[in-house]
Amino acid sequence: MEANNRNIKNEIQEKLQDEVLRGALSRFAEAYPISRAKAYENVADIEALREQVRQMKMSAVADIENLADKFEAEAAKRGAKVFRAKDGNALKEYLINLCKEKNVKRIVKSKSMASEEIHLNHDLETAGLHVKETDLGEWIISLAGHKPSHMVMPAIHLNREQVAGYFSKELKQEIPTDIPFMVQAARQALRGEFLEADMGISGANFGIAENGAIGLVTNEGNARLVTTLPRVHVVIIGYEKLIPTIKDAAPILRTLPRNATGQLMTSYMTMTSGVTPVMVKQDGKWVEQDKELHIILFDNGRLQAAHDDKFKEIYQCVRCASCLNVCPVYTIVGGHVYGHIYAGGIGAILTAFLNSMGDFEKINELCIGCRKCVEICPGKIDIPHLIEELRAKAVKEHGLPFGVKAVVENVLSNRKVFHTLLRLAAIGQKPFQSGRVIRHLPLFLAGMAKDRSLPAVADVPFRDRVSKVTRKINQPVKKIAFFSGCNIDFIFPETGESVYKVLQDLNMEVVFPEEQSCCGKPVLGMGDRETAKRIAKKNIEAFEATGADAILSACPTCAETWHQTYIELFEDEPAWKARAEKIGHKVCEFTSFVAKEYQKAGRLVKTAGNVKVTYHDSCHMKRGLGIYTEPRQLLEAANGYELVEMKDCDKCCGMAGAFGVKYTELSMPILKQKITNIKASAAEIVAVACPACMMQIQGGLDKQLPNVKIKHVAEILAENIKE
Ligand code: SF4
Ligand code: SF4
Repeated sequence: MEANNRNIKNEIQEKLQDEVLRGALSRFAEAYPISRAKAYENVADIEALREQVRQMKMSAVADIENLADKFEAEAAKRGAKVFRAKDGNALKEYLINLCKEKNVKRIVKSKSMASEEIHLNHDLETAGLHVKETDLGEWIISLAGHKPSHMVMPAIHLNREQVAGYFSKELKQEIPTDIPFMVQAARQALRGEFLEADMGISGANFGIAENGAIGLVTNEGNARLVTTLPRVHVVIIGYEKLIPTIKDAAPILRTLPRNATGQLMTSYMTMTSGVTPVMVKQDGKWVEQDKELHIILFDNGRLQAAHDDKFKEIYQCVRCASCLNVCPVYTIVGGHVYGHIYAGGIGAILTAFLNSMGDFEKINELCIGCRKCVEICPGKIDIPHLIEELRAKAVKEHGLPFGVKAVVENVLSNRKVFHTLLRLAAIGQKPFQSGRVIRHLPLFLAGMAKDRSLPAVADVPFRDRVSKVTRKINQPVKKIAFFSGCNIDFIFPETGESVYKVLQDLNMEVVFPEEQSCCGKPVLGMGDRETAKRIAKKNIEAFEATGADAILSACPTCAETWHQTYIELFEDEPAWKARAEKIGHKVCEFTSFVAKEYQKAGRLVKTAGNVKVTYHDSCHMKRGLGIYTEPRQLLEAANGYELVEMKDCDKCCGMAGAFGVKYTELSMPILKQKITNIKASAAEIVAVACPACMMQIQGGLDKQLPNVKIKHVAEILAENIKE
């Protein structure tokens, strides 16, 4: 529970002001995708390879008890002693007793995150043992007294000047900042440690059940020294690292180095199976004897996850850390704010199981659900989905915080109250309003509008404009029910008008069920499933009553919620699940729907134009719904526009619902990157297909790049329609 007294906001501020950290992370975030892509160039089918990892790990976890028994029996056959440690205390007790029994005084370690998880070094040192980390990064952070800030590069938060300072202090001589020199100095300092050590402690990248072997994938060679030179070798391996056969190591070996460091293969790949001879000094002479090999199979919450239908997915992790390397939040603040040992979204989930739910709850909001990690993870883990599941678990266990509960129950779940409040906000905001935005806020709210204008609530919401924009269509080809979502209804009603214009131009009848409300995603994001269910039921009823051929949304988050989340929500209510599935099939995202209709009508033809437009892919649209071609086709077909791509067009804009307001300090650097990329594209217009991204980017443009305007794709299409 160490994290429960933490002030996460202060910690974030501290990291934001750490120039060294920010510089290192931003350079790395820039270089990483390029080196990873290069490493995968010779892999014909990356998706098939990821699927192979997923399938193999899924079958391993499904049989975890048998796998562990088999691994233990095979390792024992080859002379290893296997101990199953339920938790950190059991592991430490076993290890300290072993040290006493074997007269161990000096220990060398090669990176083991499982041992970091329980602060093993501290306990070993307290027991009077001399412990030395030998991975360069781990040694550096042990000298600095820090925790690792990355699973693969634990000292990524430090620069060479800082490292040289720690080396100089430790080695009691001035060490220059020249990297090869520093590496050489570390080698010299550590070489004696390997030779004098009685015990080597290593982790493992995998353990093979069919032969009891462990595999280590490293770059520095120290792991070989740790596992071969000392007379006792202890392996600490989590259950999630067990795989059935040696063949199953292949997909791990093909993905882990590529994803972790952009390498085709690491410098060293070591398999250790059974005891090997070792030279020990006895009475001043070197004699050969069998090495002691102890393997500690570590649980510490892992088996609980393995037996949970939802969370066993974390066994698909190969600990490559690529999810951190692409995470918009991690790449700004680094790993220490995640509190425990494992960072990023996967770190938050592991923290819940390997440390405590309380610690998870402190950091759960640092995942903004952008799904960048899902796209890249070799084990295809749906990290944001698991985080949502954990949030729901937390809310089920002890409810929402008091103030949030009151808002959710009295406002968000009651359409009339919610809409009345929004109408009142349209009046209350007048003193701060400047056209369609709010550029300044008073007092403690000022920070929210410092680098971004905030959207103003529209004077007249879309629902009050429907009658004016509805045309009578004779012999309509389709009947469409429009789900506006809160943002189009109350912030961007003009987008709703454009949607109507485009659909009616296609000779479709459009209806707007008045009883529709928020899609429920915001409350779901907080983990409140019960309220989300109530909202979903009301929406389903309202749209069933329309008898429409299709339900259209111009907000990808709403479309995704209707498509997938409503169905998942009703897992335990079969009748509602059937209704959610039936209506979910009718839900279409606006651009993909219109592109198909334009194609049929021969209107999806590329045209020439002078106005440069760049398209921002919303996270939910691209990685949630898989839609990214259609909006571009529509823009290319729109008269007068030339489509130009911006760098990182599919990177999050930093809005992410309440995150954009609650964590303004993190949202702003993410937005700033987006504005920089828009500027570099030289576009005059930014096109989006998501009203939430529109709010955020509009606000950033208004403050930072006012000559560039933003439009929903629907508005650009509507402009092209002659009255
Ligand atoms: S969750 Fe996926 S991307 Fe992240 S460390 Fe694990 S395997 Fe790598
Ligand atoms: S979904 Fe996005 S914010 Fe969340 S962990 Fe993955 S990359 Fe990070």
